[in-house]
Amino acid sequence: MALKVKRMIHITLPDGSIKEFEQSPSGLAVAQSISEGLARSCVAMELDGQITDLSHAIDQDATVRLITTRDPEGLEIMRHSAAHVMAQAVLRLYKDAKLTIGPVIEDGFYYDIDMEPVSEEDFPKIEAEIRKLVKEKIPIRRSEVSKTEALALYKDEPYKLEMISALEDGRISLYRQGEFTDLCRGPHVPHTGFVRAVKLTKVSGAYWRADQTKAQLQRLYGTAFFDKKELNDHLRYLEEAKKRNHRKIGEALDLFSFHDEAPGMPFFHAKGMELWNQLLAYWRLEHRAAGYVETKTPIMLDRFLWERSGHWENYRENMYTTLVDENEYAIKPMNCPGGMLIYGNRPHSYREFPIRAAEIGLVHRHELSGVLAGLFRVRAFHQDDAHIFMTPEQIRSEILGVLELAQRVYGTFGLEFRLELSTRPEKSIGTDEQWEVATRGLREALDAYGREYRLNEGDGAFYGPKIDLHILDALKRTWQCGTIQLDMSLPERFDLGYIAQDNERHRPIMIHRTILGSIERFLGILIEHFAGKFPLWMAPVQAVALPINDDLIPYALEIRDMMDSVGLRSEIDGRTESLNKKIRDAQLANIPLILTIGPKEQASNTLSVRTLDGHVKMGISRDAFIQTVLNHIGKRELELNLFQ
Ligand SMILES: [Zn+2]
Ligand SMILES: [Zn+2]
Repeated sequence: MALKVKRMIHITLPDGSIKEFEQSPSGLAVAQSISEGLARSCVAMELDGQITDLSHAIDQDATVRLITTRDPEGLEIMRHSAAHVMAQAVLRLYKDAKLTIGPVIEDGFYYDIDMEPVSEEDFPKIEAEIRKLVKEKIPIRRSEVSKTEALALYKDEPYKLEMISALEDGRISLYRQGEFTDLCRGPHVPHTGFVRAVKLTKVSGAYWRADQTKAQLQRLYGTAFFDKKELNDHLRYLEEAKKRNHRKIGEALDLFSFHDEAPGMPFFHAKGMELWNQLLAYWRLEHRAAGYVETKTPIMLDRFLWERSGHWENYRENMYTTLVDENEYAIKPMNCPGGMLIYGNRPHSYREFPIRAAEIGLVHRHELSGVLAGLFRVRAFHQDDAHIFMTPEQIRSEILGVLELAQRVYGTFGLEFRLELSTRPEKSIGTDEQWEVATRGLREALDAYGREYRLNEGDGAFYGPKIDLHILDALKRTWQCGTIQLDMSLPERFDLGYIAQDNERHRPIMIHRTILGSIERFLGILIEHFAGKFPLWMAPVQAVALPINDDLIPYALEIRDMMDSVGLRSEIDGRTESLNKKIRDAQLANIPLILTIGPKEQASNTLSVRTLDGHVKMGISRDAFIQTVLNHIGKRELELNLFQ
């Protein structure tokens, strides 16, 4: 007689505790053994490192971490389930719809569906159907079939058939909820009721397999949260981001445009150029104060140079090249090699160090047309790169100097920033000792700076460690703008040297650093950060004079001349519109100071000022006005707070 031995299953939980079960428990049973409340909020589990359905039966000893509605993975799993629920709703409403694929993306999900074109007007109907499915709390069940069975099951679904045909033989997993089944790897939430707050956000056309010769599909985008409030916060954020879109503001304020004649290369209009000039005038002021000099190198250089710098080998597909007199030239994608030629132009001594040479250089990079995005991603832009040449002993203080400079510049715009240090990657040049000295220098600078930073072990460039500066805008979005990179490659390739204290020739330590990064992109970020309402010192038009009739135009001209003479940027709105209309238009153009000019102002030789933030003050003498404005601009204040 065989003895039946009962085998117990041991489940180890993240806190190290072990639970015993008499038979294979599901993830749900594990959760229930802890608490009913926990079980209700569980959406999936991590079983021996693998994220899987909560219903999965655990048939041997294992380590389990339960994933709840509070975990980021939980949100992602639910959004994938939301994509299924949306597809199910669409199939109920559109009988001829054929499904293709529906992945989770950042902030939501989409599903590509072959169906009649839909628009945002159809969203309420689809959302109503989704809500019905959510309310029904339909269980979502996984099953596995063979490839032959899957082919039979999907015989009327051309896209699914194509996908199944491409799979290897073996078990294929399906997820079913009610009448709806989808070919899917999962995992999914236990039932449709977990998709608590869902909203369709967008629809666009897409081609099957991103191939223009294939069927055009409807790409339905949505987002989902476990909580109504989170969804509403997110929708408000999207609304705000849309309002701040720099392309829209750029057009409304006449700042810049793009043209087919130069795709991805911005055209700056007069007002955009004012912004540009103000930004760079400020940049130059800070850099001069921080001991930088400025250089300028050609935008087109011989192929020989790019071979020497390594760009020809590693970056050629992004470079614009041309043939001149049988010589091959490339338009520079970076300013650095030109900077190396200037340094190498004459011998250097340690006594000159550190040398801080900046260049606002125009660079061209051939980006794919699909990734171009307003000023954020362009093919031609200016970079505020600077090269600092120094001795190894100067690394710490020089890096610290760059961090302090960055803090001043970002702070002027009210931008917070975060720091990341990236260290030696697996593939790298240079000796252990060089890396040790370089990385220690960066670390010590960060420690002396005294702010927290994130460490990205092994994420540095092959030529040296780096510090990245990520700024946070008004919507708390992060943008990497600044970078401080130590470079052991270019000094080597260009055989740069200096005479050290020992009278021997040594290689200088060299860093590249940017603060703004791409000036074009930084302006795009500023436009969105300020929502087009620039601080007074930067505003393309700082004041507009509104004479209430033609007789007052001479006085308005006098006021404008007075502002011109002290470098203030102003306009006159001499249209025969009502004063209210002119005020309204000036506000829409975000002009910080609106000067209404009537007979009283003319008679008393004064001004009436209405600020963009809503304060009105009458009878200000012309001198007091100029003094107050110049004082405000001199301090580069962020808030208007004037004439209250
Ligand atoms: Zn799926
Ligand atoms: Zn550089």
